[in-house]
Parts: sequence; structure tokens; C-alpha cells
Amino acid sequence: MCFIILSIIIIQMHERFRRTFIVLNIKAMSTEQNTIHEFDFNLICEYFSMFERQGPGSPEATLKALSFVEGLTADSSAADLGCGTGGQTMTLAGKLPCRITGLDLFPDFIDRFNQNSVRLGFQDRVKGIVGSFADPLPFEKENLDLIWSEGAIYHIGFRKGIETWRPYLKKGAFIALTEASWLTNNRPDEIRNFWMEAYNEIDTIPTKIKQIQDAGYLPVASFVLPDYCWIENFYLPQLQVQEEFLKKYPGNSTVERFIEMERHEQDLFMKYREYYGYVFYIGRKL
Ligand code: SAH
Repeated sequence: MCFIILSIIIIQMHERFRRTFIVLNIKAMSTEQNTIHEFDFNLICEYFSMFERQGPGSPEATLKALSFVEGLTADSSAADLGCGTGGQTMTLAGKLPCRITGLDLFPDFIDRFNQNSVRLGFQDRVKGIVGSFADPLPFEKENLDLIWSEGAIYHIGFRKGIETWRPYLKKGAFIALTEASWLTNNRPDEIRNFWMEAYNEIDTIPTKIKQIQDAGYLPVASFVLPDYCWIENFYLPQLQVQEEFLKKYPGNSTVERFIEMERHEQDLFMKYREYYGYVFYIGRKL
């Protein structure tokens, strides 16, 4: 999912809760404000629910990362944190024999997730739940054999994420994540400035690998996601939906601004993709 948009969503989620709090406690709130807010929130959810994935990736990359994970049986437990509508979770479910719990903040995504799980016949062992991957997670400590997370850990930051999630893993259990990373030591100001504003924890692959080791994991593997994971699988499917959205909500400045930001992010990727990308990192709890 787009970095800037996601920050907006998270701010809106916080405001949503804050407003709920205000309604409950002070019982004085502008209905008009709430309506505008609900619209923005629902709109962004509506937009991203229309895609199989909410971030760059591919079934091939998911399976390649999974090839480094060993020893899972029907009794194992896996969690997909920030699962979205579950594109990658269903790929995992096709290969893994174990239970998989998808966790996401957005109820609409989880509804889609559970519909996908039923459609594919995985409903007995693959379930989506609404919740947060910030501490505390809705899992028992030392219980998970695998934590998966594609395009989501940046919401709490890579270092905080791998530290926060570690206690929920059994010793020797695996973690597999995608994270925005610099591919070169130097980069043009335009793209550097964009990322410093969007997510200033972006860093080079060796730095990320050291962070994994320092957080108490053995770094097992890392690889860069190919460009098609961004272009064909993430940006191109959005083009038509963007046109439809602009038609569906004519003159709506939120929609216009939101789509403008999506397009800007995409243009930057096309221009600067040799400098950054998503990298899959696989680690094992020491
Ligand atoms: N893994 C999916 C979705 C990536 S988009 C894919 O690759 O397609 C990032 C997801 O993280 C969104 O669905 C967003 O709702 C979720 N998310 C963001 N912050 C979260 C949090 N604190 N707890 C749980 N999910 C979160």
C-alpha cells in the first residue's frame, strides 16, 4: 500500500478512535465532521479492497521466501501480520499444512480475507482477525512457528516490529518480512527526500540484516523483489480503478488528492527504481 496514503489512514484511524472516545465521554461532536471523516476512511478502504494485494509482491516471491522456512507441520501455527485481503496468505496456505492467522487493522480487509479463505477451502485452518500488530499482539508468547509480514512492518518501524514480535515466536521459529530498502550507497536528493518524509527507517540491505541479528535472530536469507512485483502486480492494476474512482466521485478533492499522491509515488518508482525496492528478509529466532 502506498506509504503516504497509509500514513493518512493511520492518522484517520487514530482520529476515528479519538472521536469515538469524545462521543462516549463528552457526548458533543459535530456530525458533519464525522460524516466527512467516515467518508475518507471508507473511501480509502474501498479503494484498496478492490485489489488482490495492497502492496508490492508476487506469489513467486512469497514461495521463494517460504523455501527458506523449514519444519512446519499440521500442528504448527503461523501468523500473517498486516495481511490485508490475504493475497500472500492464500499463497502460503496452498503450501503450508498448518494453521495461519491473518491479522489486520481494517475490518473490510479481514472480511475479504475470510471470503477468500472460504472460496479456496482453507476456512478450517486459515482465519483472519481484526487487531493490531503493535504490542500486545493477540497471540500467546512463545507460541508461533512463523511470522509472515509483507509490506506492513513499516507501520511500526522495522526495528520496533522485529523486537515487538520476537517474544511471540518459539525458539528456532522463522520470521519473513518485506521492507523498503536502499539498493545503492548513494541516491539522488529527490528520492532521498521522498523517503525521508514517508519512512525514514529505509536503509541498505546490510544495515537491515545487522538489525535482524541485533534483535536476536539469525539472518537466513534476503532477496530483492523483482520490478514486476511493483509494476504489473501493484501499480498497473490501480490505473483503471483510479479512473473509475475519479468518475464515481467527480469533483471530490479527497479523491483527487489521494489519486494524485498514488500517481506521484508510482512516477517516482519508475524514475528511481534502481535505487530502492522491497527486500524479503528471512530470519530465525535465536
Ligand atoms: N500484506 C498485504 C497488505 C500490505 S498493506 C499485502 O502485501 O498485500 C499494509 C497492511 O498493514 C494494511 O492492510 C494495513 O491495514 C495493515 N496495518 C497497518 N498497521 C497495522 C497495525 N498496527 N496492525 C495490523 N495491521 C496493520
